[in-house]
Amino acid sequence: MPTKPFASSTDLDAKQQTLEVLADGVYALTAEGDPNIGAVEGEDFVVCFEALATPVVAARWLAILREHTDKPVRYLVLSHYHAVRVLGASAFDAEVIVAHENTRALVAERGKQDWDSEFARMPRLAEGADSVPGLTWPTLTFSDRLTIDLGGDRGDLVLQYCGRGHTEGDIVAWLPRPRILFAGDLVEAEAALYTGDAFHREWSGSTLDRLAGIGAETLVGGRGGVSRGADAVAAAIAQTRHFLQVLLAEVGRVRERGGTLKEAFERAHAALVDDYGRWPIFEHCLPFDVSRVWDELSGVERPVIWTAERDQEVWAQLQT
Ligand SMILES: [Zn+2]
Repeated sequence: MPTKPFASSTDLDAKQQTLEVLADGVYALTAEGDPNIGAVEGEDFVVCFEALATPVVAARWLAILREHTDKPVRYLVLSHYHAVRVLGASAFDAEVIVAHENTRALVAERGKQDWDSEFARMPRLAEGADSVPGLTWPTLTFSDRLTIDLGGDRGDLVLQYCGRGHTEGDIVAWLPRPRILFAGDLVEAEAALYTGDAFHREWSGSTLDRLAGIGAETLVGGRGGVSRGADAVAAAIAQTRHFLQVLLAEVGRVRERGGTLKEAFERAHAALVDDYGRWPIFEHCLPFDVSRVWDELSGVERPVIWTAERDQEVWAQLQT
């Protein structure tokens, strides 16, 4: 059987972007399953959440944001280290770039390889790739919690680490008063999960428990639409957890009976496709996801670095 086209290399149709005003001065831009981004107005500055893949693409988002506010970007918050979330940073001209301390370490350790890997997997997101000036380096990091006073009577924006999950360094941004949570890739609403850099057991357990315990009433996940209302938030978290648990169970079963990675992929695919197969990037993600679950269950503590070459090898092995 022929190999399927690599990752999202043939997904070239532009997605519809939608700016949603979630509360006074709180914005989310969603894009039919492409990476979501957000912004929160302070009294005399803006905090942006996520930076998209290139300055060219980020500038387009900023132009939309500028229809609502012309305050300067003081803080750019990066939820994690992935290239399509961080390499547009220079367009924001932010005073401070905030991330978890593990994210800074991951940029140093594997940022360049991830950049090459991600831009080849999904070239559509990397429009204007030549405009990326280099890796994005956080200028302020923290380990557990960091609070930004928004000024005036706007309250706080709380940045919080919930444990290892989609990567080793995911953070969420929480607005206590309107109860809005920007969850990054720790939660996806009707989009498949990428788990190639993940810690499935911790993510599906204590990390999502902690995230759910925040008590959000509106949730902006990494991809997919905004979840509005406690029930929709709970559903998005539950579906994220379910995807992880099915991956763990199916891959674990094949591994325990001495099966192969390819068999594990086929079992996981069969178990997930009815619920998630129609969602964006399902086929794209699954080979990388299964490969990492297999490693995790085999005792490989930290994810093996994805390179453009390793991507192709795993794809050829599994997506045929
Ligand atoms: Zn990611």
